[in-house]
Amino acid sequence: MAILEIVLEGDPRLRQKATKIKTVDGALRRLAADMRETMLAAPGVGLAAPQVGVTRRMIVVHLPAGYAEEGDPEIDWTLINPEIVRAQGREVDQEGCLSIPGWVGDVARADRITVKGMDLDGKGVRIKAEGWAARVLQHEIDHLDGILYVDRLEPDTTLRRVSDLVDEDALEDADDEDRPEPMVDNSAAHRSDETAA
Ligand SMILES: [Zn+2]
Repeated sequence: MAILEIVLEGDPRLRQKATKIKTVDGALRRLAADMRETMLAAPGVGLAAPQVGVTRRMIVVHLPAGYAEEGDPEIDWTLINPEIVRAQGREVDQEGCLSIPGWVGDVARADRITVKGMDLDGKGVRIKAEGWAARVLQHEIDHLDGILYVDRLEPDTTLRRVSDLVDEDALEDADDEDRPEPMVDNSAAHRSDETAA
């Protein structure tokens, strides 16, 4: 496995519509493994193939156990040709992107979605996701259509620097040792106090 170079905003590959994958072969499985390793090393919670310069329709998602609430199971998905077939609800939360490091902004996403696609055995899969997991999936699937979260910023909001957020948190929560660090990554700059809303 290998850690791949992450393509940054401004690279035209991030703005192309990625092509549908017809065959699951060894090369694709290797790419999936490398994408997963790259995502975990970043660290990030999601990565789409165009972000490593491959304009094909594949995404990886990883959320640790307890990512939003205690008891949430670990999520570890690799999806080929993912497609949203059902979307309900609307929630605004902040997101970041490994291709736009150092910034976060507010984006509205569907709160509950159903995604169909294919796994690395070439079998059809159907995934139901809600909350943060649904947000990550929507962010990654957008990448396959050349869409970045900054295209979807809520009106009257602007991007915020992550370094400013970290400083605020350090001041406000200096005595709260249990509080997780803001997780700024490919798909969601997630702060535990912001998902409850
Ligand atoms: Zn992204």
